[in-house]
Amino acid sequence: MDSLNFCVDGGALVGATGWLPSAPWDHYWGNSGPVAGCNHVRCIRCGEVVRSFAGLGKARGGDPDPGELLEAEDPTTVLGVESSASGRLYACSCTVFANHSDQPLRSTIVFLDASPSHWECAGHTTDVPATLEGVDTDDTDTAVSASLGGGGAWPWPHPQRETWPGLWVTRLSVVRPQLTDAVDAAVSAALDSVDPKTLRAALDDCFQRPESPASARLVSFFDADQLPRFEVTDPYEPRRDLRWALLRALDVRIVWAASGSPERELAARLALGGDKRRMYLLGRLEPAWVAENALELEAAGLSAKSLCVSVQGAESALVEVVRKLRTTRTLEVALASVPPAHVQAVKAGLGA
Ligand SMILES: [Zn+2]
Ligand SMILES: [Zn+2]
Repeated sequence: MDSLNFCVDGGALVGATGWLPSAPWDHYWGNSGPVAGCNHVRCIRCGEVVRSFAGLGKARGGDPDPGELLEAEDPTTVLGVESSASGRLYACSCTVFANHSDQPLRSTIVFLDASPSHWECAGHTTDVPATLEGVDTDDTDTAVSASLGGGGAWPWPHPQRETWPGLWVTRLSVVRPQLTDAVDAAVSAALDSVDPKTLRAALDDCFQRPESPASARLVSFFDADQLPRFEVTDPYEPRRDLRWALLRALDVRIVWAASGSPERELAARLALGGDKRRMYLLGRLEPAWVAENALELEAAGLSAKSLCVSVQGAESALVEVVRKLRTTRTLEVALASVPPAHVQAVKAGLGA
């Protein structure tokens, strides 16, 4: 038997409007971007594969019988079931669960109405046909460029196609990893496109796959002669321009990249230009650098309070930031910028 792909987080349940793929090889691979509901959830208690019914929920106080629900010709007639615009009713032989949103089965986040802990992704075949949605993916260049261009050529009836135009391409490299090199080359070429739809979709793929060679090119787009290319309206999200998608992809690359890399150096340059979001990112990734440059960052327009908040995860850096701030103000004023939970520790760190 071929090896299997397993969904991350034990698989995810989705509501009525979430994406539940029908192809057995589709699975949930990422923690960012759209959630793919797992279409092969198995119950480890009764051994059954879990089925789902979109558009149904539990009636108030209702407790539908699992056997009756699974056998019903019309599940809406089952006692305790009612129709629901947001709901999807999941059932195995021993359990019925009403779900209304994207919800991973294993998560560090505790959900109010937790999904059954005895359900989990049972794996997805890695035996994927070359023709996906009618597109011959072995002709990877054509497949990728046609789908990145959006519009009619985009082959996938995905509910989030308008907000994640690059998803089909990312999924291609995930379910057919033997094509990854060809996908990388096609996406990299698409990053030079002057068509905003193509550019946006290629940036989406970079966002999902920060390790790709195409993502390595993102840094170079912040050169003065390149950036204007991205100062055009995002065709998928017209209230933004493409710089937003570029920065979103850059951020995951900054997190992925090592200390001292060109990505981290670009983040530092942007932060020293007053870019608050990149400063917060560095406060988490490189708190000692933020502390070292606290006064320069403040001079660039970032508030003392923002500086303190950005490094609050690293107390020694926070102490260092306050030490720097003290050179231009009293201890009392400097401490006023420190999140209250850390004030005592900072005082102790300063010996004050
Ligand atoms: Zn799964
Ligand atoms: Zn069960």
